[in-house]
Amino acid sequence: MAEEVDIDQVYWTRKDTTMATSVSQHQPCRLLTKLPSELRIRIYEDVLRFDNPIKLRQHVPGSESTTILRCNRQIYHEALAVLYDINIVSVSRNDFCAKTTSALQTPILAQHVKHLRFTRFSESIACNFLLDRCSVCQSDAKGLMELLEHGMPMLKSVTIDYSTQINAFLQFKDLVSQGGTNMIVECINIGIYRIRGGRLDDIDFTFRHRPLAICWPAIVAMADTSISQQEDEEERLDRLRAADPDVPDKLWLLFCADEYGQLEQLCNDKTVEAWSTEPWLSGPHDEQRSSTLHELTLAVQYFMKTHTAVQCRRYLISLRAQMVG
Ligand SMILES: [Zn+2]
Repeated sequence: MAEEVDIDQVYWTRKDTTMATSVSQHQPCRLLTKLPSELRIRIYEDVLRFDNPIKLRQHVPGSESTTILRCNRQIYHEALAVLYDINIVSVSRNDFCAKTTSALQTPILAQHVKHLRFTRFSESIACNFLLDRCSVCQSDAKGLMELLEHGMPMLKSVTIDYSTQINAFLQFKDLVSQGGTNMIVECINIGIYRIRGGRLDDIDFTFRHRPLAICWPAIVAMADTSISQQEDEEERLDRLRAADPDVPDKLWLLFCADEYGQLEQLCNDKTVEAWSTEPWLSGPHDEQRSSTLHELTLAVQYFMKTHTAVQCRRYLISLRAQMVG
């Protein structure tokens, strides 16, 4: 699982500007006078590239990587554009909530931000206690969607992990489907929903059950090659368990039970019905496919919620014993 990196963000206050001007009057910046802008950009890219989504913080002393932003005003503007260009910024609804104090929010520069990842879909802590929530935190997330659609001109990608707020996401999806906006929510794979409509068509915008969306393709690939052979089954499952200890065993049991014709023993009728459509194999992305994928996502999410990984491992052992017997 990706770990977030905390970095600070520097703001040019009046004091900073005066300081930088007085420094640059005495010492011209050689980075600016000696190097062409393409090379400067390469340097910024090397220094400011983070492997994981970054969490921007205010009023924190400069880290090794971001001190370059403090050199002078021109470098600050050049490097800041690169920082936002090549990194994903980690945020939550809290950061956009109108009823949360700005000292508790990530200082996003809306004009620059390109890639956002929401780690949760929960409303802010402040709005959680209020009947009268702000428009960002309401169930239809209207204020948030407007902000993403119209308030961030450079925005190219948004991912929202809904895995810890499945019901809040489903309620949002229902409210959007009921109309009033030009937005469309379509299920494009198990645990992945794409948002389209208007300016959002230019943004790669998805809601994801992150653990499920990551694990599903790997388990599908395993099922394609090794349910009957099973030589490297444990090895492959162990690798997946390292990324998420919970989801792999649950999905693997579903695939194995299906292979042995025992899915009915394990799941309710709705899940068996959704499973039997096997929609992930092929087909054009139309409304029918989206709704089938959605039904299967619901069924798998329900199964994962009502079973533990340990139960699933035990069940698979007993299922295999039955099959041999
Ligand atoms: Zn709020």
